[in-house]
Amino acid sequence: MKIAVVTGANRGLGLEVVRQLAKLGYRVLLTSRTESGAGIARELQGQGMDVAYHQLDVADGQSIGEFAQFLRERHPVIDVLINNAGIHYDRHQTTLTADFSIVNEAWQVNTLGPWRLSKALYPLLRKGGGGRIVNVSSASGTIADSWPGTPAYAVTKAALNMLTVKLAADVAEEKILVNAVCPGWVQTDMGGPDAPRTVAQGAASIVWAAEIDDDGPTGGFFRDGAPLPW
Ligand code: NDP
Repeated sequence: MKIAVVTGANRGLGLEVVRQLAKLGYRVLLTSRTESGAGIARELQGQGMDVAYHQLDVADGQSIGEFAQFLRERHPVIDVLINNAGIHYDRHQTTLTADFSIVNEAWQVNTLGPWRLSKALYPLLRKGGGGRIVNVSSASGTIADSWPGTPAYAVTKAALNMLTVKLAADVAEEKILVNAVCPGWVQTDMGGPDAPRTVAQGAASIVWAAEIDDDGPTGGFFRDGAPLPW
């Protein structure tokens, strides 16, 4: 049975990715920074899905260490890591009005979180002989097509894209495929009610990268399976 870890999975895209992976037959570790994920995992179990909960704050190195230790003891081989947790708190700021506490938090969650967690879990993915890491990124981080505002979000997602390329190269020999995915503008708390895409559509774009074949792409940036410009 394949095992997947999803971060920030108590709501929004992360939760829907958990549902879609579970329906594909994965055992899914639903993680969230608060205990709210525990009850949600129980609900999904009640619907017949193989979902377990574990606390994980991706901005907290100790929390990542404890989670990695739990996995080494209970699930020493994992197949998929979905770095989904993200924050977008600087919608109305510019580089010149930026609040650096928000910039720092965005860096911790959007960039360092996936970096730390990938580093911590890489030995478990490697044991699986060809895992998948999916970094949930955003077209907001696209340097080729930038727009005003949200500097912390844009810079940290651009950095996540570079992390994707570097990590993909560093794990290539282990046959671990690492890709960044933009789910599109999606109807979640972050995307708001006017977003054109449903949570199911956005999550499917992420699940696609978890399900690519062994000879599939690595070090790329995709939406709906199609390459995006960096
Ligand atoms: P939501 O705001 O709906 O959900 C964000 C999730 O991230 C929540 O579960 C939140 O947990 C979690 N989270 C935040 N900080 C941490 C942390 N330190 N540790 C663990 N979990 C954390 O966002 P979406 O579902 O829309 O977004 C998911 C991903 O998709 C993000 O990376 C986002 O940047 C990306 N994305 C979304 C788009 C959209 O239009 N919605 C567009 C492009 C990209 P909590 O409930 O505790 O706050």
